[in-house]
Amino acid sequence: MDSAAVASAPPAANSAFNTETVLWVKHWTDRLFSFAITRPASFRFRSGEFVMIGLPGLDGAKPVLRAYSIASPHFAEELEFLSIKVEDGPLTSRLQHIKPGDQVLMGKKPTGTLVLDALKPGKRLFLISTGTGLAPFLSVARDPDAFERFGQVIVTHTVRDVKELAYRDLFTAEIHDDPLVGDQAKVQLVYYPTVTREAFERAGRITTRIESGDLFRDLGLEAGKFHPDEDRIMLCGSMAMIKDVAALLEAHGLVEGSNAEPGDFVLERAFVG
Ligand SMILES: Cc1cc2nc3c(=O)[nH]c(=O)nc-3n(C[C@H](O)[C@H](O)[C@H](O)COP(=O)(O)OP(=O)(O)OC[C@H]3O[C@@H](n4cnc5c(N)ncnc54)[C@H](O)[C@@H]3O)c2cc1C
Repeated sequence: MDSAAVASAPPAANSAFNTETVLWVKHWTDRLFSFAITRPASFRFRSGEFVMIGLPGLDGAKPVLRAYSIASPHFAEELEFLSIKVEDGPLTSRLQHIKPGDQVLMGKKPTGTLVLDALKPGKRLFLISTGTGLAPFLSVARDPDAFERFGQVIVTHTVRDVKELAYRDLFTAEIHDDPLVGDQAKVQLVYYPTVTREAFERAGRITTRIESGDLFRDLGLEAGKFHPDEDRIMLCGSMAMIKDVAALLEAHGLVEGSNAEPGDFVLERAFVG
């Protein structure tokens, strides 16, 4: 084979990455956007898992790849992602400019702990997120399995400014018309946004609302704290939130689970830093 043929050859079948096509892009703010890509027929994942997403390197450099939670449920025809825009970020300084028809790289091996199988059965499922940590819960909360396993599914999303409440319309209205989970969502889903730096109907960090008991009071739960026999929790977002809430959960007697050993709560940081 001559070198020109090598240069234009598609990625080898045994490459760790698929090349996928961007289907749509939606910009929420100057720091946040969502996009969807084609789904390879052979790609399987569990709702809540993450995968490597990237772009080819510039000037022959190695591809730039980063972990991304898949925001679509496991049966979706396209794969949706919610992304930060980091001004000088090696990946997102470029990824934020993608347009429909562009190509992105996607790893072939999804993985992660924010899956229903890593939790013991329970009465309520709390999906607690900050910022882009909402992404895996967009997947879990659109999966009928979540509503079949739990009587109530509570999605909390904490952001700095109201405009960063991406997917607010989905959780307050659109999901009720979803052909698969709409009827269950109307009855079983609670959306609980909180905002830290602007006036909002619910102000403050989720950690503070757990500590003060406000979260439970707002939900009409008399115990005022998490209950190891009833509550199951997934955490995703900033390191500080995860560390603080995990400590509270342990203080309430809940035990961290994993794929190998299901427990009362599971966690995944949405970014390093
Ligand atoms: C398991 C896992 C899942 C992830 N899922 C997502 C996801 O669904 N969506 C997403 O946008 N990112 C996600 N990330 C972060 C992602 O991998 C990249 O860090 C992000 O895309 C920025 O890449 P970058 O190369 O532009 O900058 P990087 O060099 O990776 O990051 C530069 C700095 O930007 C900040 N930063 C990075 N990511 C975020 C973020 N998401 N929110 C706030 N600040 C951030 C941090 O301070 C970081 O040090 C995930 C990370 C992990 C480990």
